[in-house]
Amino acid sequence: MENNKTNIPFLRLELLHQPLENAFIEVFSECLKKNQFILGPHVTKFEEEFAAFCGTNYAIGVASGLDALKISLLSLGINKGDEVIVPAHTFIATWFAVSDIGAIPVPVDIDEKTMNIDCTLIEDKITNKTKAIIPVHLYGLMVNMDEITALAKKHNLYIVEDFAQAHGSSFNGKKAGSIGHINATSFYPGKNLGALGDAGIITTNDQQLATKARLLRNNGSLEKYMHSEQGYNSRLDNIQAGFLSVKLNHLNNWNNERIQLAEYYKRKLASNLNITFQQTDESKVHTYHLLVIQCEKRDELASYLFQNGVETIIHYPVLPYKQEAYKSMNHLSFPACESAVNKILSLPLYPGLSTQEIDYICYLISHFNEN
Ligand SMILES: *Cc1c(COP(=O)(O)O)cnc(C)c1O
Repeated sequence: MENNKTNIPFLRLELLHQPLENAFIEVFSECLKKNQFILGPHVTKFEEEFAAFCGTNYAIGVASGLDALKISLLSLGINKGDEVIVPAHTFIATWFAVSDIGAIPVPVDIDEKTMNIDCTLIEDKITNKTKAIIPVHLYGLMVNMDEITALAKKHNLYIVEDFAQAHGSSFNGKKAGSIGHINATSFYPGKNLGALGDAGIITTNDQQLATKARLLRNNGSLEKYMHSEQGYNSRLDNIQAGFLSVKLNHLNNWNNERIQLAEYYKRKLASNLNITFQQTDESKVHTYHLLVIQCEKRDELASYLFQNGVETIIHYPVLPYKQEAYKSMNHLSFPACESAVNKILSLPLYPGLSTQEIDYICYLISHFNEN
């Protein structure tokens, strides 16, 4: 079984895309024929479909997940000097969205079992400058939104869900992206629902916030050449929205397949005391954007798997507050984050991965532990 060739890649988007090639070509040909590239009918249609998918009144397509977060915060009136609570462990774009508008990301440690923000530690970080909380549903597992909502009500804060990793996940029957005041997600190609390029969307039930976000994404304009305020160029492409509509039809099936494969992995590794999984519970539907295990000998396990043809990734190897981009925060310390960051490892998990491949990966993991 020894080889140096990766034969189970971390991700195989072609498994999703090849069967849809003709549908994509149809979207492309139509956009080309009609010369509809910026916003346009596919964007309007996809916004309606995605709002319905999340169970919100409105969805506003934008250029990326980072922009979706930024425009959500700006729509709430958050600006320079305001503080925004963020998890200390997340993809760094959550933080950049806050910093980019001149606000201050205030990190809170995670719960190592769920890998999400530890809600019991939030209240200590709230000051008279705090304006919002960004719960990130990391790896596809939702934050306990009852706890976030209670804190937000008590301290009069806005909630902006970052559900970039949680399309279709739910908490007590409510979909990710439907609970916060205004919420943001990404359609980066590798997400559960991904475009064939960069894209993102904002969801909300609030008409005024929706209108504000629509203004901000398009040069402060709702009517051509009339600009009620300064905005941005952050529009969703018609062609990407068309591709996303094609893929949205398959999202529930893909998510169900992810869930089944994740459960298969968990059964196979259940008796392995060296491996732990992100802890979920009955209130949550976890859609497994990533299957992240924790293991003390993480680096050795990763190279052992790689030598045997299995590609893994660490999400994420350097905590945001330890990044060069946040030099002034490098001295901070969050014990749960720092413990987890050395143990986490993401295993291959995607629609089209076979149970035989999972058998092989689990065989290797068990074999590794015997060494
Ligand atoms: C992917 C991601 C983003 C950013 O999305 P982009 O479309 O790449 O800008 C933000 N937050 C989280 C948690 C993400 O995983």
